[in-house]
Amino acid sequence: MILILGGTAEARALAAALDATGTPMLSSLAGRVARPRLPAGEVRIGGFGGPDALAAWLREHGVRAVVDATHPFAERISASAARACPAAGVALLRLERPGWSERPGDRWTWVDGLDQAAALLPRLGRRALLTTGRQGLAAFAGVADAWFLIRCVDPPAPPLPPHHELLLDRGPYTLDGELGLIDAHGIDLVVTKDSGGALTVAKLDAARERGLPVIVVRRPSRPAGVETVAEVADALAWVRAQAG
Ligand code: NAP
Repeated sequence: MILILGGTAEARALAAALDATGTPMLSSLAGRVARPRLPAGEVRIGGFGGPDALAAWLREHGVRAVVDATHPFAERISASAARACPAAGVALLRLERPGWSERPGDRWTWVDGLDQAAALLPRLGRRALLTTGRQGLAAFAGVADAWFLIRCVDPPAPPLPPHHELLLDRGPYTLDGELGLIDAHGIDLVVTKDSGGALTVAKLDAARERGLPVIVVRRPSRPAGVETVAEVADALAWVRAQAG
C-alpha cells in the first residue's frame, strides 16, 4: 500500500491518479480543518503520535512507500516522515510545489517567520490582508497600529490582533475577487506565506496590479536527504516504480 500524507491540492491530484489506476493507496489528513476537501480513495484522519508511532503504523499496515505531499509549511509531519520511513524500511518521496517568485512590478519583502512579519508590518502598511492561515496568528496579536483582514478556512483561536475582521473562506481565488477585496477594504499591504501553487496566487497578482507591498514568509528548511519532486506526474512515476 502507498501512504499519501496529504492536505494539499497536489496530494489530492496524486490520490485521484492512483485511485483511477486501482493502486492500493490511503491518504492521511491531519484533521485540522472542520470540513476538509477529501481526496479520492481511502482516507484516514488524525495525527500518528510522532515519528516512532508513525514508523510502527507503517509496519503494521504493510506500507510500501510514502509520499509526503503535505504543505510546504507543515514542518512537523515532514520531519516525522523523514525519521519514520527509514526506521520502518519504507521508501519516502517528498512532493512539494515550487515556491512563488517575484515578477516585475512586485514589491515583496521576504521574512523568516511570522514574528518577523509582525515586526515589519507597521512600517509597510496600515490595513493588511493577512493570509498566513489560522495557526500562528498570535504573532500579530501585539500589532495594535494596523487593521487586519484575516482570511482563513476555519475560525482562528485567540490571541488575535486588536483591530481585525475575520473572513472565513478558502481558495481557489480569482484576480477579480482579490482586487475587489483589496478595494472594498482599503487594503494597503498583503501578508502571505510562500505557499506556492496556482490556487492562491491571485492575491499576489492583485497586489502587483494595485502597487501594494507584500510581506512573504520564507519556507522552513526541509529534512535533509529526502528525494523530492515538484510535479504530481513525477510522483506518480516514482510510485509506479516502487510498486513495480
Ligand atoms: P505540522 O505542524 O507539520 O503537523 C502537526 C501534527 O499534525 C503532526 O506532528 C502530525 O501529528 C499531524 N499531521 C500533520 N499532517 C498530517 C497528515 N497529513 N496526516 C496525519 N497527521 C498529520 O502541520 P500543520 O502545519 O499543522 O498542517 C496540518 C496539515 O494541514 C498538513 O497535513 C498540511 O498538509 C495541511 N496544510 C497546512 C498548511 C500550513 O500553512 N501549515 C496549509 C495548508 C494545508 P503526529 O505527530 O501526531 O503524527
